[in-house]
Amino acid sequence: MTEGTTIKPLVAGNWKMNGTTAMVREPRLLAGMMRDVKTKCDILVCPPATLIRRVKGVLKGSRIRVGGQDCHAAASGAHTGDISAEMLKDSGATHVIVGHSERRTNHKETDATVAAKAKAAHRAGIIAIICIGETLDERKGDKTLSVLTSQIKGSIPEGAMASNTVVAYEPVWAIGTGLTPTTAEVAEAHTHIRTELNKAMGEEGGKTRILYGGSVKPSNATELMSAANVNGALVGGASLKAADFIGIIKAYM
Ligand code: PEP
Repeated sequence: MTEGTTIKPLVAGNWKMNGTTAMVREPRLLAGMMRDVKTKCDILVCPPATLIRRVKGVLKGSRIRVGGQDCHAAASGAHTGDISAEMLKDSGATHVIVGHSERRTNHKETDATVAAKAKAAHRAGIIAIICIGETLDERKGDKTLSVLTSQIKGSIPEGAMASNTVVAYEPVWAIGTGLTPTTAEVAEAHTHIRTELNKAMGEEGGKTRILYGGSVKPSNATELMSAANVNGALVGGASLKAADFIGIIKAYM
């Protein structure tokens, strides 16, 4: 398989460093809304680690899953303030976002760090959502596809499978800015990523989900999700309100 056409999409929400206990009302509302909505995608919310268990609690009985944001590469040890993939799993997480551009920029994470974190997720038995994407300067310099190639080579650990790995294409300049690539640009990037995944992962590459992320909203979700080799969305700002997030999920009705 090389095209990824039969892949079940995933719509994932990244809350980033937002939310205290009161915010749990949003996934509760979302679960209620989902009862009347038949969608063809899987759904995931990634709250801060402090809320994983609570969010999991309010989603009991719903098909919405809960993930974490980032993890340490080690399972345990002297790493004050860090959280391991095993701890996320223990809290109820089924996925973890690694390599987000905010981590790569703010914490100077390299591809090797990201690969080690993804490997940790696999070790713990959770799915790694590995983020890649070019900066505006790289896009302007016509380096988008080469940047994606080198991020894939460096950030996807050996032995990655479609069942434990999701790739999220997030152009850095589109995150939280309201700017998005054109559908043709998304298709070009995703088709290139698919080709590189086929090279890196063999058969598994054709089955691996490739999410688009960067200023996805209810008003542009259907168009962005229609691009070739897009198997869902990674959503930041618009995942914080159930009313917005459901609008994106409905792109897959
Ligand atoms: C993100 O940070 O993963 C993201 C896609 O953010 P936003 O949807 O707000 O652009």
